[in-house]
Amino acid sequence: MNAETWLAAADLPHFRRALLRWYRKHGRDLPWRESSSAYHVWVSEVMLQQTTVATVERRFHEFLSRFPDIDSLACASEADVLHAWQGLGYYRRARFLHQAAKRILEEHDGVMPSDPKTIRALPGLGRYTANAIASFAFGARVPILEANTLRVWSRICAMRGDPTKPPVSNDLWHVAEEALPRKEPGDFNQALMDLGATICTPREASCDRCPVSTHCRAHEEGLVERFPELPEKRAQENVDHVSVVIWHHRKVLISKRPETGPWANLWEFPRVERTDAENWTDAAWRAIRTYCAGQATLGAERKAIRHGIMHYRVHLKCFDVLLNEGTRLPDESTRWVEPEALTKLPFSSPQRRLVASVQESPSFQGTLLDESRKR
Ligand code: SF4
Repeated sequence: MNAETWLAAADLPHFRRALLRWYRKHGRDLPWRESSSAYHVWVSEVMLQQTTVATVERRFHEFLSRFPDIDSLACASEADVLHAWQGLGYYRRARFLHQAAKRILEEHDGVMPSDPKTIRALPGLGRYTANAIASFAFGARVPILEANTLRVWSRICAMRGDPTKPPVSNDLWHVAEEALPRKEPGDFNQALMDLGATICTPREASCDRCPVSTHCRAHEEGLVERFPELPEKRAQENVDHVSVVIWHHRKVLISKRPETGPWANLWEFPRVERTDAENWTDAAWRAIRTYCAGQATLGAERKAIRHGIMHYRVHLKCFDVLLNEGTRLPDESTRWVEPEALTKLPFSSPQRRLVASVQESPSFQGTLLDESRKR
């Protein structure tokens, strides 16, 4: 089926009324809905892009207490914004948020524009987020399509084909736009999101509790499980990483990530990916020699951390190292810091677990007697 066929047969006034009535009774009570401030909508939508609602519920007010408005966000340093974003992952979002706040301050007197096209011209703002801000905060009659609404519309229209790519995605945007009511388009959009989050969920659709079941083609045809027809997920790959906590005069060596790529501009303990030809200690020595010259002692394994990034499952082993005589290699991206100063800098989530371990046991862990571990 396509959007036009569904739209031609749909009783849209009834569909809208049923959905909005349900939303008034069953809509989710979320912290970012306490106000219709465009800034609050924007921050919450950016946080929600790759982070669960439960985590965003915990972190939303914390972020706002640090950056209560666009001005304070624009005037902060990028390091401070990344620091406040720790634990939310996908740090590119925080950098775009910061860049966009600066642009709003420079070009729009610090006020979020209300026109969706102008919002979309800001760094990091795609069609969905721009329309969400315009419709939730300013009542603009523009559609939204994100994971929840994409699933709901795919099922309602029994839409064949991959809904994440044209032409099917164009069809879904079209139906989402045509279905919008003249009044309360923001509530209508939020109602569809809530329906997808609570009733028409990925694992199971509770069609018996759905306010729009009489309009739903997938339900009518008994094919709910078939939709949306998403592409197969890329299989996860296992990779091994080694981080070294290099101690020298009661300080540890840390390194700042490049400006692009994963964890851009965040700090970490020197880290390498273990190759097939290396064992764990070979990789640890390579990490040491990449950053330091002189005699070093490889100490105990301090911590093992398992985490995921993109389609990788990472096994990170962390070793202590004592740099007996030597120095760090000249490199502007590295510096020695005292363990207690580590919390002031932004680290990725897995590296923050290592920071916590270093702060709990702030000294070299290992033995100096094993000559084989001295090079
Ligand atoms: S009837 Fe079922 S499949 Fe259709 S929108 Fe409602 S919950 Fe989803």
